[in-house]
Amino acid sequence: MKAIKVKEFGGPEVLRLEEVPAPRPGAGQVLVRMHAIGVNPVETYIRSGTYARLPELPYTPGNDGAGVIEQVGSDVNEFKAGDRVYTAGSISGTYAEFVLCKTEQVHRLPANVSFAQGAAMGTPYATAYRGLFQRADARPGETVLVHGASGGVGTAAVQLARARGLRVFGTAGSDEGRKLAREQGAHEVFDHSVPDHFEEIMKATGGRGVDVIVELLANVNLGKDLPILAKGGRIAIIGSRGKVEIDPRDTMQRDADVRGMALPNTPPSELASIHAALVAGLENGTLRPVIGKDFPLADAPQAHRAVMESGAFGKIVLIPEK
Ligand code: NAP
Repeated sequence: MKAIKVKEFGGPEVLRLEEVPAPRPGAGQVLVRMHAIGVNPVETYIRSGTYARLPELPYTPGNDGAGVIEQVGSDVNEFKAGDRVYTAGSISGTYAEFVLCKTEQVHRLPANVSFAQGAAMGTPYATAYRGLFQRADARPGETVLVHGASGGVGTAAVQLARARGLRVFGTAGSDEGRKLAREQGAHEVFDHSVPDHFEEIMKATGGRGVDVIVELLANVNLGKDLPILAKGGRIAIIGSRGKVEIDPRDTMQRDADVRGMALPNTPPSELASIHAALVAGLENGTLRPVIGKDFPLADAPQAHRAVMESGAFGKIVLIPEK
């Protein structure tokens, strides 16, 4: 089978397509034939060797994807060959034609959802759900600011929050991104490239502030997020690419909470609950992942460059058979 192999950490060019033996599923494992693979920013940090947790070399990147079960190992009763699934983690890495997973890493993909859409679930939707509901405790009737609403996690957060009955504000850096955020359910959209968008958001709440912020670029925004929080407000830090200065008094004045999260820290029972909610949302049509760009598997380097560019528009996926 064909798979991307990384033999040294470095730029996008270290992602090389190779012919390798297909893995075989052992007890409690399944082999999935991938039809679409999700590309996430974290895979670029790992590839460059700058991330806190690094795999041993050589490795095949990727957590997310969707396809059809090719083969099941012994002791597997929940799945059979031919089932449509999406993956949330894998044993062998998802940037490949076939992927080995533990049964708990695969979830049923409803028939009304494309494989490319399924490839958006494992990291972006699970992260958005955990950030909103398990970390920030966002409740119906509250106002949430999705600070970075145009990308993989942001569009998911907008759909999830809107479906749960929150008032949703979203930001993006481009006209297309703001249009997208509005189409996904944001009641109001703002331009995060304009410095005074914080004042505009405050004005839109009538001076009360927002209850929850889902923050996708904390190193840029955290210091200015705190003053636009309502009393008792919570910020879920999902993305950050550096340091930031804050005034701690801004948290004191409003009894505010700043709560970080990393998806791999999610306890298994809470992860199972997240995917049960996500599959239900796919089935009933409230969750509709947006695919902005797709690339052939061999063009993984281009996909890694694209996912780090500004002007996000939903999800970027790789297609093995393209
Ligand atoms: P993505 O699809 O590339 O989207 C990036 C988002 O950040 C876009 O909406 C982009 O908007 C926005 N952004 C750019 N400048 C911004 C600013 N000044 N203020 C607010 N937002 C800004 O990436 P993703 O998959 O959604 O991931 C987003 C971030 O979350 C990444 O840093 C990723 O590493 C992190 N993440 C963390 C976890 C975790 O477990 N903690 C899990 C998944 C992702 P424009 O392009 O429109 O400007």
